[in-house]
Amino acid sequence: MILPPSTLGVLGGGQLGRYFVIAAHELGYRVVVLDPDRQSTAGRIADEHIIAAYDEPQALQRMASICAAVTTEFESVPAAALATLARFVPVRPGAEAVAVCQERSAEKRFLKTHGFPHVPYAEILSENDIRNVEAGLFPAILKVARFGYDGKGQERVAGIDETLAAFRQFNKEPCVLERQVTLDYELSLVLTRGESGEVRCFPASENHHRHGVLDYSRVPARASAGELTRQAREIAEAIADRMAYVGTLGVEFFVVDGRLQVNELAPRPHNSGHFTLDACVASQFEQQVRALCCLPLGEIRTHSPAVMVNLLGDLWYDDVEQPVREPDWNILLAEPGLKLHLYGKDVARPGRKMGHFTVLGEAGDKVFETAMACRAAIGIGDR
Ligand code: ADP
Ligand code: MG
Repeated sequence: MILPPSTLGVLGGGQLGRYFVIAAHELGYRVVVLDPDRQSTAGRIADEHIIAAYDEPQALQRMASICAAVTTEFESVPAAALATLARFVPVRPGAEAVAVCQERSAEKRFLKTHGFPHVPYAEILSENDIRNVEAGLFPAILKVARFGYDGKGQERVAGIDETLAAFRQFNKEPCVLERQVTLDYELSLVLTRGESGEVRCFPASENHHRHGVLDYSRVPARASAGELTRQAREIAEAIADRMAYVGTLGVEFFVVDGRLQVNELAPRPHNSGHFTLDACVASQFEQQVRALCCLPLGEIRTHSPAVMVNLLGDLWYDDVEQPVREPDWNILLAEPGLKLHLYGKDVARPGRKMGHFTVLGEAGDKVFETAMACRAAIGIGDR
């Protein structure tokens, strides 16, 4: 066990890294953040912020020399950097698991090989691969295999010609072409797996997206999802076991024709798990710290129904040209059962995650109503 006041390292310094820092600080650890962005929101509150590229040898060397263990807050960290660090210091989750989650085709291949349900797809490396795609795959979505997030690097395509055009637009980077399915709705699960194989799984959330970005998450999910959430948990746990995963893992599911399909995996805490900050005994970030340090995992008991709503940079704008206002936080602060979280990012940009709020209460329906009223009052859904 790595006990406080040891120093922990995290690669990446966005809001997920920031909550990792906060959770680690609460437990008495020191934290080093590696992120090339001088303004990194996690770097700002860390004990040390190493401002360097993720694969810079000197930066990795410094991390290895001062940290008792290292984790990551986003999947696009070069898996090679994790492998380098792992020669000197425990890295959890390991480079192999991150390598699978950071590349859509590797992820799909993993799901296919181990028999986890997923939507039909084809790997696209060349224009010829597109010409050979079966017509039954369309309508489809072309997704770049790496570095896509929040709906970026995705194009909906009706047939081969559109796919060719989109592939060229993506500079012929490796892609996956995935059947576009009609979603009943979306679910996700966050679990944490310890070094010993012990697993704690938070309740599933029902997720709603807007323009390709998570808009809000509801816990518990709709009543009719009961059996599916049980299955989702089994699948997510089996995935974590297969990967010999150590850490907090997010698993996104589609519900299509009443059945689950795994959409994607996140080797880190997940946006849809932010409700755990306010509604659970241990949050997904505390669990991340505990798994990293081989501490016993905390209790995932959820003491309130919760609805989490994302606050995107769009709220600062009337049109896309100039930020014109600070949103009127009084509207949200006036609601006593609402927890406001702002990430302290210096610049608001449309689509950028600037914060979120979580509404808690005794009755799920009332919580949902209040959250939707607050969401509308602050101006989400206007455009
Ligand atoms: P990311 O979250 O990395 O941007 P996803 O693959 O999860 O990428 O896609 C974002 C959202 O787009 C999904 O949550 C879902 O709402 C929608 N979507 C993605 N793939 C499909 C698909 N094959 N069929 C229907 N909707 C999809
Ligand atoms: Mg996703």
